[in-house]
Amino acid sequence: MSDTRQSVEPLSAFTAPGQFYRGNLHTHSNLSDGVLTPEEVCRRYKAEGYDFIALTDHFVGHFNYPIADTKPFRDNRFTTILGAELHSGAMQNGELWHILAVGLPEDFAPSNTPTFKPIDDQESGPELAKRAREAGAFVAIAHPQWSGLTLEEARGVEAAHAVEIYNHGCAIGCDRPDGTYIADMLLTEGRKLTLIATDDAHFTEPDHFGGWVMVKAEANTPDLLLEALKRGDFYSSQGPEIRGVTLSGTEVTVNCTAASAFIVQGSGIAAVAKHGNSMTEASISLDRFKGASDWIRLTVVDAAGKRAWTNPIWL
Ligand SMILES: [Zn+2]
Ligand SMILES: [Zn+2]
Repeated sequence: MSDTRQSVEPLSAFTAPGQFYRGNLHTHSNLSDGVLTPEEVCRRYKAEGYDFIALTDHFVGHFNYPIADTKPFRDNRFTTILGAELHSGAMQNGELWHILAVGLPEDFAPSNTPTFKPIDDQESGPELAKRAREAGAFVAIAHPQWSGLTLEEARGVEAAHAVEIYNHGCAIGCDRPDGTYIADMLLTEGRKLTLIATDDAHFTEPDHFGGWVMVKAEANTPDLLLEALKRGDFYSSQGPEIRGVTLSGTEVTVNCTAASAFIVQGSGIAAVAKHGNSMTEASISLDRFKGASDWIRLTVVDAAGKRAWTNPIWL
C-alpha cells in the first residue's frame, strides 16, 4: 500500500498552531476485561485533568466486538475518540496479535476472533491493522515487549502509524513496558513511525494515569486530534512537559519543565546524554549523529525518573 509510510514533520508538534491536549489512547472498560463502566472511566480521566481518551476495549466475539460508544461522555472540555484493541491471528510465539486502533468507525466489521485463542481462518494481525487504517484509524503496535513481538513481525505491520514506546499497564503488571527496541530498529530501516505512551488501563491494579500523549491541535475535537496524531503532532510523557524542540544544522535544542537528563538517540549505538540539575533548556550537538543516523529522538528525564519522549526527527 502506498500511504503506509506517512511523512512526519518532525518538529511540527512545536510549530503547528493550537495547543497541547493530554490524552490516553489505550484504555479498557467492563465492555471487555476492565472493571469500570465506560462512563466511570471517562469521569476519572477527566477528573485527573485529561482532555480526551480513547476507550479501546478488546474487539473479540466473547465481548460482542465492542466499540464503546463514549460520545455521551463528551462535553465542552473533555472529548473521546472511538477505538478498539484489535486481535486476530497467531504471532510466532502462538499468542494472539494485539493492534491498537484509535479512530475506528462504529460499524467497523468484526474480525473472526471468538476468544483470545488464535484459530484457523482468521485475518493475520497485519491484515487486520491494514483494514483498520483503511477505515480511518490511527494504528499502533501495542506493547511489543510484553507480547514478545519479533522484529520480523513488527516489520510486517505496514499499516502501523506508531509503536507504543511505553505501556504503563505492562510496567505495572509484568515489568515489560518498552517499545524502544522495536521502534528504534524500524526507524533505522527507514520506517517513518511515531511513538506513543499509553496506560492500557483496566483499573484492576495501579495501571492508570502513568503514560499519555500530548497532542497539538487547534481544538479538542475527535477529528482534529486524530488528524494531529496521524501527522505526528504530539509527544509522549510520564510527567515532564516538552515545550519546544528546535533543530539547527549542528544541534538540537529543547525547552521543557525541570529535567535531570536529556538523552538523544539515533541508529545503532549513537546516543548523547546531558545530565544536570533542574535544567529547563539545553542544546545538544548533533556531531555524534552525522553520517551515523538518519534520525534522532529525544528523551527528557526528570528528577523522579519520569520520562518524556519526542517523536523521531528525520535529519
Ligand atoms: Zn493488549
Ligand atoms: Zn490493552
